[in-house]
Amino acid sequence: MTVNFTAFNSIASGGRRGRLDLSHRTVETPVFMPVGTAGTVKAVPQDILESLGAEIILGNTYHLYLRPGHEAIRRMGGLHRFISWPHAMLTDSGGFQVFSLSALRKISDEGVRFRSHLDGSSHVFTPEHSMDVQIALGADVIMAFDECTEYPADRARAEKSLRYTMGWARRSLDHFRAHRNEVPWFEESGGRTQSLLGIVQGGMYRDLRRESAERLVEMDFDGYAIGGLAVGEPREVTLEMIAGTLPLLPRDKPRYVMGVGYPDEIELYAKMGVDMMDCVLPTRAARHALLFTRDGRINIKNKQYAEDQGPPDPNCDCMVCRRYSRAYLRHLTTAGEALAATLNSIHNLAFYLGIMRRVRSELETAANAG
Ligand SMILES: [Zn+2]
Repeated sequence: MTVNFTAFNSIASGGRRGRLDLSHRTVETPVFMPVGTAGTVKAVPQDILESLGAEIILGNTYHLYLRPGHEAIRRMGGLHRFISWPHAMLTDSGGFQVFSLSALRKISDEGVRFRSHLDGSSHVFTPEHSMDVQIALGADVIMAFDECTEYPADRARAEKSLRYTMGWARRSLDHFRAHRNEVPWFEESGGRTQSLLGIVQGGMYRDLRRESAERLVEMDFDGYAIGGLAVGEPREVTLEMIAGTLPLLPRDKPRYVMGVGYPDEIELYAKMGVDMMDCVLPTRAARHALLFTRDGRINIKNKQYAEDQGPPDPNCDCMVCRRYSRAYLRHLTTAGEALAATLNSIHNLAFYLGIMRRVRSELETAANAG
């Protein structure tokens, strides 16, 4: 398998500047990946994502499988072409949404039977099926099928969950290796394929996390994710799990922490050596009137902003902060105008992407000085 990652600068705390060479784009790391659930980063058009400097976005396998369907997307040339995003993409395995959104789940060694949250129809996801769906969608980076262990989970439950995830990881890898040439853009990319990442689980048990990491590394994935975090545990525990797991993962492959986090967290984790992160927080918070600023979070609906002519974040030079006032964003938000979600989301994404741009530059400076 191809290893498409170069880490070329490291600092003492483990943080590193790197580069992911993917089929549709080279991605500078550490990177924050906006979440484009159903083929859209909610409320934000693709050209604006480009102008914000987003290099890679996520798609959710569960949502796209149910609607419009992975075979329809394959027939249209894959997800990149369907949503007109010629840059890098990553899809999750579908596991997380199956466990968080669908009803009447039945888990076995084989996989998961569930009912759609849209119409109640019955479906089965197995590791093989998750690979088939993700190959049809054709994202540059795809994820092994896993069970995201809930929190809290007692030890017996975490062990059982990990057993599923480890067995499914092996089957995901075998099926991917046998079918990776079926990706829609295989020919036009000159025979390049997707990269498959394994996911470390194990609940909040360090020894289970270690066992999970060691077994995945033995299987030799293209990179490794740490999943099952930010599921309700205290943030010190999240940090402990990340700190305990990172040293177990190969330095020459990308390391991805799924579903994190607040602005200070993504900066901290990046400086510890996490290369990739994704989170719905900037866009979801934006739709709930919460704006991230250099001075902390503000609720733009607050009355104090009713006639505030200042920019949403005085330290931000994004297209929203350059043009609009807090008073106008407050008006749009309280009036329920569609534009509110768009403008609030653009600012929050600019804020998150700006943090990672600064961290990359700090990692370069620190490594050069060291
Ligand atoms: Zn801004």
